[in-house]
Amino acid sequence: MTRRTLLLGAGVGAVSVLLASCTPGPDPTPAPTATAKPTPGPTPSNGVPLPTAVVRSAWSTDPFALGAASFMPVGAQPGVRDALARPVGDRLFFAGEATSSDAPGTMRGALRSGQRAAVELLDAAESGERIAVIGAGLAGSAAAARLIDGGAEVTVLEARPRVGGRIESWTDDAWPVPVQFGGWLLGGADAELRGDLETLGTPIADLVPAGWFTADGEVEPVDAQPMQAAIDAASSLLADVSLSDAFSEAGVDVADPGITALLAFVAATTGADAEEVSAWFPPAVPGGDLAASTGDVIPVFDGMLDGAQVRLSSPVSRVAYDDTGVSLRLGTGESLSFDRVVVTVPLGVLKQQAIEFHPALPLTHRGAITALAMGAIETIWLQFEEPFWDAEASIWHVVDGDAPIRTWINLLPATGEPILVGLVGGAAAEEFAALKTDEAVAAAASSLGFFVPAGTP
Ligand SMILES: Cc1cc2nc3c(=O)[nH]c(=O)nc-3n(C[C@H](O)[C@H](O)[C@H](O)COP(=O)(O)OP(=O)(O)OC[C@H]3O[C@@H](n4cnc5c(N)ncnc54)[C@H](O)[C@@H]3O)c2cc1C
Repeated sequence: MTRRTLLLGAGVGAVSVLLASCTPGPDPTPAPTATAKPTPGPTPSNGVPLPTAVVRSAWSTDPFALGAASFMPVGAQPGVRDALARPVGDRLFFAGEATSSDAPGTMRGALRSGQRAAVELLDAAESGERIAVIGAGLAGSAAAARLIDGGAEVTVLEARPRVGGRIESWTDDAWPVPVQFGGWLLGGADAELRGDLETLGTPIADLVPAGWFTADGEVEPVDAQPMQAAIDAASSLLADVSLSDAFSEAGVDVADPGITALLAFVAATTGADAEEVSAWFPPAVPGGDLAASTGDVIPVFDGMLDGAQVRLSSPVSRVAYDDTGVSLRLGTGESLSFDRVVVTVPLGVLKQQAIEFHPALPLTHRGAITALAMGAIETIWLQFEEPFWDAEASIWHVVDGDAPIRTWINLLPATGEPILVGLVGGAAAEEFAALKTDEAVAAAASSLGFFVPAGTP
């Protein structure tokens, strides 16, 4: 395949939040997902300088995420997300991005799911009940905010020593802007959240519109239409097929550099590989304007959790429920009783059965947990002494059979800082997560050689 580089514009889902305010116990500390400080590997021979700082995520192995985002694999039946969202006996309520049919796998979906579950619970509850929310990610924090507004006494039990879940702003003196390990990109549909974040002082930067960036340095518009054509072709088939088979069905060559770039971008933003994801229930087609939060998003969570009792480093290991209430056992062995509970842990955690439910969840819930899939996304942040690249676009896509990291976000235009963020999705992300840091830096350098201007030694 011809080695080429693309710049893609894309619309990733995002959020719209009503943000309240609070400080949940001790300061959030960097999660185990962050590998602080660089260990640069051997000097690359392709002209890419060594970064001065490197950090990377490890969501694939993080026991409180076990993946990045849920997706519908080939053959998944409609309604599985709604089945997962259904309350059990008016005692257990479910939220989290995997329960969102409108915007799964996104910050927006997580937020709305939390608000939805809180309203369901308040409808079933008497005033003054004691409610627990398991998980202080976006869904759990949004649920807590709504429950507190409704007069409930809310305790939030969070396994990690920080709030935010799969949104993680990490600040360190070595970095001029907070590093974002998880959700941070806002699409056109996220105008409401963007407004809320900006009102609270979180800087949001527009990413420079992009197109193909070819080997000749030409920029051409990216055409997402073939993906829609593939989805349309699959919609008339008798049985569901994978997205990559749908491309074949539509007569589109998946080896075409533009399609390769599109699918790599889809994997890097949804965690789903085209060979696995359902063409009947595909992830959002990239398109539209994109923006990124470039500030610390964690105060947003503190705001939503204001008024709740937040217990960090408190993993729930068992949920026992009956007609009268819910008993939770923590990893420490401590037991706590509540009237009702909102469960917001990621699909990966439910799939792993890291929480024991007693009695077992209804068949509909277990079926949904089994039917849905968890995708992988990993990020690597590289800071350089000075930019070695001259592209002004914010999103680069490397179309090269050997490039381990195909999607890059160039933060120079948005922040003025020489920072590049590599995004890897799907099976490639799981392989990337297994690399040592020096191997990851070498992989990044080998993917970035294309951006070194001709003539650079
Ligand atoms: C690398 C990456 C990039 C992403 N990029 C984007 C993006 O650009 N735009 C976008 O819209 N979305 C993006 N997403 C998706 C988005 O971040 C998520 O959909 C969203 O944050 C999920 O929120 P949630 O509340 O459903 O789950 P989580 O944030 O995972 O919250 C669940 C909480 O439960 C806690 N928990 C787990 N187990 C237990 C237990 N046993 N006891 C107690 N607590 C427990 C976890 O620690 C966590 O805090 C990205 C995700 C990743 C990982």
